[in-house]
Amino acid sequence: MAIVTSSSDSVRAALPRWQDAVRTAIRDAAELCDRLHLPVALREAAVEAGRSFRLFVPQAFVAKMRLGDPADPLLRQVLPLPDELADVAGYTRDPVGDRQASTAPGLLQKYSGRALLVTTGACAVHCRYCFRRHFPYSEAPHSLAQWQPALDQIASDPTVHEVILSGGDPLMLTDAQLAQLAEQIAAIPSVRRLRIHTRLPVMIPERVTPDLVRMLRDSRLTPLVVVHANHPRELDRDVADAIAALIQGGIPVLNQSVLLRGINDDLATLVELSERLIDLRVMPYYLHQMDRVAGAAHMTVPESTGRELVAQMRRHLPGFAVPLYVREEPSAPHKLPLG
Ligand SMILES: *Cc1c(COP(=O)(O)O)cnc(C)c1O
Ligand code: SF4
Repeated sequence: MAIVTSSSDSVRAALPRWQDAVRTAIRDAAELCDRLHLPVALREAAVEAGRSFRLFVPQAFVAKMRLGDPADPLLRQVLPLPDELADVAGYTRDPVGDRQASTAPGLLQKYSGRALLVTTGACAVHCRYCFRRHFPYSEAPHSLAQWQPALDQIASDPTVHEVILSGGDPLMLTDAQLAQLAEQIAAIPSVRRLRIHTRLPVMIPERVTPDLVRMLRDSRLTPLVVVHANHPRELDRDVADAIAALIQGGIPVLNQSVLLRGINDDLATLVELSERLIDLRVMPYYLHQMDRVAGAAHMTVPESTGRELVAQMRRHLPGFAVPLYVREEPSAPHKLPLG
């Protein structure tokens, strides 16, 4: 027994620290509610509401939440609520038309010049408002060989200048897997840029490893990283360090947020989020109108409110600190600016 224990300990010790943070993430509503000293009723409701899209949140993110506050804006992004079970007209399982945009397994092509790879279904957190919470991830490729049709499709279209790695979260792949995929993409002469859409630098900052930074810095492709923070309290010291490592590697970092009821739908929060991002040298890119995904209707902010908030932001911030407020329409040729 002792031998087994010590060998599994050494395997564990050999895991990169970020994978250990994934392994120890909280998956149980009761554990989360106990940790945060929340009422028992909330815990029971969360267990029920989380059955189809389960709770998943890393310890480091939980550590930023306020004790005993069911309205905490970080908690609300991850805690299943009974409202999710309501069937609301207009809220569907594929709100952005991903199915009709698929041109090969794992490949989505909606906009000219860009192609998006759904690299994995895994994420470092389960956001309750996720527009892909019902996505058929099992149909996407699971190995480099299975990516070949998607890569062939990109290579056959010289107008595709940018490949976006999305998911799920592409940084849930290992550095070795990412390096292999990036190399295959870089071998396509018409591709110029590699963009990564990820929430990992915010959820598990240790994910920004020196190997990852080096791989992006040394690629033939111009790299961009788009992170996802919704509230200024997400951007603590550890996140700042991870982002600084990317920026010191010469990698531009942008942020996208989703406008969410009770989380960031007030002027002070949005202004402070932009200020904090700029402090970290991250450019605010998009503020998304929440996609109408089944289970998240209760988190919607009306577009009229969003427009008013963005108009107010413009009065308080330099132009570069105001994100573009957009909505995704299934058949539109780009994200639609709303104000
Ligand atoms: C949002 C999205 C993109 C990227 O759009 P940008 O406006 O370039 O950020 C690309 N492909 C798909 C399928 C998308 O949903
Ligand atoms: S990180 Fe992105 S893809 Fe993953 S659950 Fe959150 S919103 Fe969805």
